[in-house]
Amino acid sequence: MQNQQNQSNKSNKRKSCHILRHGMCFFGQYISSCCFSPVDQIDNQTPPLLCDLTGGESYSTDLLFERIEQYEKQFSEGGCPRECANCYHIEEKDWSDDDKKGKYIDYITITHFTKCSANCIYCSNNNTLQERKNNTYKIVPILNDLKEKGLIKKHCELHIGGGEFTIYDECDELLNSYAVNDFARVFVPTNAIKYSETLFQAMDKATTYIIVSLDCGSRKLYKRIKRVDAFDKVIENLTMYAKTKKSQDAIRLKYIILPTVNDSICEFKKFLRVAKKLKVQNLIIDIDARYARMNNWKIDDFYINLAKKMNNIAIKQGFITEFYSFFFQCEKGTTVKTYNLIEDFIESLKFKYFNKDSEKIISLYKNEKVFFNSK
Ligand code: SF4
Ligand code: SF4
Repeated sequence: MQNQQNQSNKSNKRKSCHILRHGMCFFGQYISSCCFSPVDQIDNQTPPLLCDLTGGESYSTDLLFERIEQYEKQFSEGGCPRECANCYHIEEKDWSDDDKKGKYIDYITITHFTKCSANCIYCSNNNTLQERKNNTYKIVPILNDLKEKGLIKKHCELHIGGGEFTIYDECDELLNSYAVNDFARVFVPTNAIKYSETLFQAMDKATTYIIVSLDCGSRKLYKRIKRVDAFDKVIENLTMYAKTKKSQDAIRLKYIILPTVNDSICEFKKFLRVAKKLKVQNLIIDIDARYARMNNWKIDDFYINLAKKMNNIAIKQGFITEFYSFFFQCEKGTTVKTYNLIEDFIESLKFKYFNKDSEKIISLYKNEKVFFNSK
């Protein structure tokens, strides 16, 4: 009997992806399931496409779930959508419980606006010839419609991308919307140049978290990295955000290591002093994504050791640290792998890199040839 049960459980197992089944990502030109596609990372192609807005399609919930079903069918027939090949989000398990729950959305990313009040040297939005725009279509009506139809779950997560959220024209409306009001968690990267009372209120409700890439601890270097003289304003606004009831948890300060610019322990210590003053406990250590991309998704020993040193110093001072997306090893054709635990991260460093390409890349950084000039 037990044997039969085991066999039937085994036979129900198959590959699929939760985000493919229940995710929506809003880009300027299209709506897709996610923004993780390994194909996108390598060949600049789109992730699973749910609605091609510039290709003449109009969004509707029918089209949305029809597309999800088409992609899912490829998994259920033992295949894999080309856009998902090698993605680490694919899981092999029994999906029948999820099948019974029917259609729903619980993972949303908004990245269809690029307007920003800063001009960071590493910003990927600066790499396009397109003008930085506020947005190309409204999100709130789409989310409210899905919610009204009972198609968004209460445990839904919202991730913001694109440009600066506090100057995005749907910022207040979105945070106060019928749909988002109910979401379990909302992650908002912000440069904190503008203070938003609506954002503060949302943080106070214990569902919204802000991530601020400070990347340094001094006004001079901030101006060089962000190309706006706003360090003092950012600290002033962060001091206000830190007054939220759950400030310890609601704010994450990020240090993106930029080769030859802020890759020093001395600057990192200044950053820690700022975090301490603000009483922010959660830190993120990252590396410039373009460096990893140019270096074939590999991180050189120098930066791995630097990150480890930074991490140790921060932990000794009582901070909680996290490595973000770009400390990963990534074979060509596979998507990124994040390491939340330093042990996992160190354990995974079975590779050794410092090749001629790396030296070439570092010299490009030294000569500022990798920094984008568009305003
Ligand atoms: S690319 Fe990855 S995360 Fe996106 S839908 Fe496919 S398997 Fe899921
Ligand atoms: S804050 Fe910097 S990285 Fe973020 S969108 Fe603006 S320019 Fe780009």
